[in-house]
Amino acid sequence: GAVMAAGEAVSGAGLVAEALRAQNIEYMFGIVGIPITEIAVAAQAVGIKYIGMRNEQAVTYFLFFLPSRPGVCLVVSGPGFLHALGGMANATMNCWPLIVIGGSSDRNQETMGAFQEFPQVHRHITFYKIVSAVRTSMYGRPGSCYIDIPGDFVNLEVNKSSIKYVECCPPPPISMAEHSAVSKAVSIIAHAKQPLLIIGKGAAYSHAENNIRKLVDLCGLPFLPTPMAKGVVPDNHPNCVAAARSTALQHADVVILLGARLNWILHFGLPPRFRQDVKVIQIDICAEELGNNVRPAAVLLGDINAVTKQLLEEFSKRPLKYPSNTEWWKKLREKIKNNEERSKALALQKSLPMNYYTVFHHIRELIPKDSILVSEGANTMDIGRTMLPNYYPRQRLDAGTFGTMGVGLGFAIAAALVAKDRTPEKRVICIEGDSAFGFSGMEVETICRYNLPILIIVVNNNGIYTGLNADNWKEMLQYGDPATCVPPVSLLPNSHYEEIMSAFGGKGYFVKTPEELQKALKASVADKQTPSLINVMIDPQSERKKQEFPWLTRSNL
Ligand code: ADP
Ligand code: MG
Repeated sequence: GAVMAAGEAVSGAGLVAEALRAQNIEYMFGIVGIPITEIAVAAQAVGIKYIGMRNEQAVTYFLFFLPSRPGVCLVVSGPGFLHALGGMANATMNCWPLIVIGGSSDRNQETMGAFQEFPQVHRHITFYKIVSAVRTSMYGRPGSCYIDIPGDFVNLEVNKSSIKYVECCPPPPISMAEHSAVSKAVSIIAHAKQPLLIIGKGAAYSHAENNIRKLVDLCGLPFLPTPMAKGVVPDNHPNCVAAARSTALQHADVVILLGARLNWILHFGLPPRFRQDVKVIQIDICAEELGNNVRPAAVLLGDINAVTKQLLEEFSKRPLKYPSNTEWWKKLREKIKNNEERSKALALQKSLPMNYYTVFHHIRELIPKDSILVSEGANTMDIGRTMLPNYYPRQRLDAGTFGTMGVGLGFAIAAALVAKDRTPEKRVICIEGDSAFGFSGMEVETICRYNLPILIIVVNNNGIYTGLNADNWKEMLQYGDPATCVPPVSLLPNSHYEEIMSAFGGKGYFVKTPEELQKALKASVADKQTPSLINVMIDPQSERKKQEFPWLTRSNL
């Protein structure tokens, strides 16, 4: 930023911008208005990249893998702030560092019914200094923080010489597990008959990929990633048992839990999805997480990468290689083979309209292997997770712990911006259900305004879970008032979502057959400059196969 002479004045907005810059904040996402427009302008002036979006929810769906610093969002008071709450909750639930800066009414108008006034904070307790917000959002288990900026503060003139500068907050200190807990864990693993390593997104956050890979290779352990931990160890690693997920969870006698909560995603760690007597070795950075739902056999409180290194050191003294010819491996491999054959058969079905498996099969064949995948929607996300492999860490983003729909386009925009600056060869592919796409559809304008070559694929079944086709839609309308006749799950059949993309200058494709899908995919992947949207019509009744258990069981086709 500009160097000012002593005695020179700086505005409140300028101060906020400089303080953020001093904390190495690179990006700010927001929607401007009274009283925070000046903050966005000041941010650009000090070299922070400002990205203006269309709805605050999308603004706060900031991605978690932004290089080491928290995401910063800028919103107006009252309604803007309230729209941002969904994203703040989403970030906290996913343990992502996020800072929301909200404008609020002038301090001398407080509780008077000012424009867009809302009791956003109890000022005396949450009036964060920017450095505290940065530290709080990143240290320990990451999460979201709120900074309230009253309107009158934005245009305040401050004498430069009266400003106290704060140093850049260093990255979080790395904590290690107690030594006794490490040796206890190692002896439990050494006695396991049916071990299973579960890799959660905490492992992705702590950049533990190299050490976890070593652990898997050194000890020969079968592993299973949770949805957003896919790619920490590549999905095509021979020890990946994702395609036998239910079997692996149900029969493991020892589970090594690397940064994953035993919440709904892992069926609470309880029967019938787990053995009653399963021994869980829990590794987490957050003390409050230890022992939730299941009493662990060993607890290793610390950073995943550091603790994995500790385990590796211990194993170098007491080598352990789980044999690859056990009954356990045989059972897992059989299940994998079986499940893969079943999804292949579904993918190769020739009937029209297409089913989910056929669509994902072609996407998998035609997109680059190093693509950053964003995915949301019910079946679209669940089936897509098993059909689309990840080979690199932190390259899958989805509805996450909170199951938030509407996150996809915000994630894709943030991912594409960071990719543009750091890994321009990587494409962002955003695979959306038609319902999920609708939540933040106008962000297509944002994508085109910033010219981000994102490929959006809308897997369109005319509804939420299932939909109607054009014929029975018309039939429904004959029964009377649509508000009482149209099934709550249905959306307008044959909607041309691709036209939203062409409206803003991107490329739109409407496809109904595998041939049209292949053609559109090839064209979109080849064009590395232009945003595109492929609207893929599928069978509105296409469903996942019957499931024994309700969540995350795609692998049990
Ligand atoms: P998943 O969705 O993959 O199951 P969760 O969000 O449930 O993952 O769990 C992630 C866990 O990782 C949280 O309990 C969080 O405290 C933990 N975590 C986050 N960062 C780190 C880190 N650097 N080291 C260790 N654990 C971490
Ligand atoms: Mg749908």
